[in-house]
Amino acid sequence: MLQRVAVGRWSLDAYRDVVPERILVELREQAQALAGARILHINATSYGGGVSELLRSSVPLLRDLGLAVDWKVIAGRADFFKATKALHNGLQGASQAPTEAEKAAWLDCARENVHEIDGGYDFIVVHDPQPAALRAMYGKGDARWVWRCHIDTSEPNPETWAFLRPYLAEFDAAVFTMAQFVPPDLPVARVRTIPPAIDPLSPKNFELADETARQILDWIGVTMPGRLVTQVSRFDAWKDPLGVIAAYRLVREEIPDLQLALVGSMALDDPEGWDVYRQVAEHAGDDELIHLYTNLTGVSNVEVNAFQRLSDVVVQKSIREGFGLVVSESMWKGTPVVAGRAGGIPLQMPEGVGGLLVDSVEQCAEAMLKLLGDRALARELGHAGHEHVREHFLLPRLLADELRLLGELGTRATG
Ligand code: UDP
Repeated sequence: MLQRVAVGRWSLDAYRDVVPERILVELREQAQALAGARILHINATSYGGGVSELLRSSVPLLRDLGLAVDWKVIAGRADFFKATKALHNGLQGASQAPTEAEKAAWLDCARENVHEIDGGYDFIVVHDPQPAALRAMYGKGDARWVWRCHIDTSEPNPETWAFLRPYLAEFDAAVFTMAQFVPPDLPVARVRTIPPAIDPLSPKNFELADETARQILDWIGVTMPGRLVTQVSRFDAWKDPLGVIAAYRLVREEIPDLQLALVGSMALDDPEGWDVYRQVAEHAGDDELIHLYTNLTGVSNVEVNAFQRLSDVVVQKSIREGFGLVVSESMWKGTPVVAGRAGGIPLQMPEGVGGLLVDSVEQCAEAMLKLLGDRALARELGHAGHEHVREHFLLPRLLADELRLLGELGTRATG
């Protein structure tokens, strides 16, 4: 059954002094043009990972703007999530494609969920491949359908892509984070590039006094004040947590009291998380300066806020990445970032902005050492990062871009 996700109430007025005025004006205009439209967002998890993060903040604001928005999660069993993870990995280029049984589980789940979509929506936005088969199963109707792809699908495994491709053909539009993610033979005519954004007022990103942040970290076992590098990401091989530990160990040769925190949430739709976590724990061994946390050990939004705010350097050593919200989250807090040159990360960190891009464990260690040693450079990059996020990667900009696309597609009344 599709499950409705409850979200809070929020008002765009709260963003007045945070987001550039022209962006707020633009957003209100786009929303006015769509006043009263019914929009359904469908994804695969209500917590963990970037998409749920985006929807949790977007839905209340869209409602505040006069749109009737629902967020529902496709409900699947373990075999469905195993299948969707295989699909996700295949789209990011992994060598194995989903098995026949996995393909069948993916289709069965869409078939079981599709009847739950009622007929009154003007727009249905399907996030990522997990619920993508719903479009084909739904058949004809009045709604306009958008496939919002958050992952890097520039070089999909051919067999995986051949399987998924026909299920995308009936979408009215597709949205990717970057132009280079669009697969060459995408069967959708209307394609847009819209990068995601962070919510500067959510508990993950709102202002937090240093003293409070310090207390939070002290309380969960990180010694503050103390030198700290952190990676916040799902326990996923594409985020290269083992590479982070390797780079950290190189830096430790120079800075013996440096602490490392690996903060990783376990998303409902990511069955591989615990396997990767076990590998990471094994690599960390009994090193008391390496701290491992998951959302299941009580580390949630405010703790992530404290980590991103107080770390001397935030690392995001991704090998493949869709966008990497954690990069903008850290930059927004003025913290310098060392990040893998992957997917949407360079878009967030052009030369001289936010931190340093790296391509290997050695480069990662070097960049960390540089920023730990040269605090003036770290501050300068951090400051430029904050400004860059303010201009480009705050939520109202994303919502304006998305509503512009819906406006182009037209509602049943106007189209
Ligand atoms: N996140 C979190 N707790 C964690 C790990 C991640 O809240 O322990 C959040 C993180 O702050 C970010 C999102 O999950 O908002 C991850 O999004 P990103 O785009 O970086 O990666 P994805 O998981 O979507 O691949």
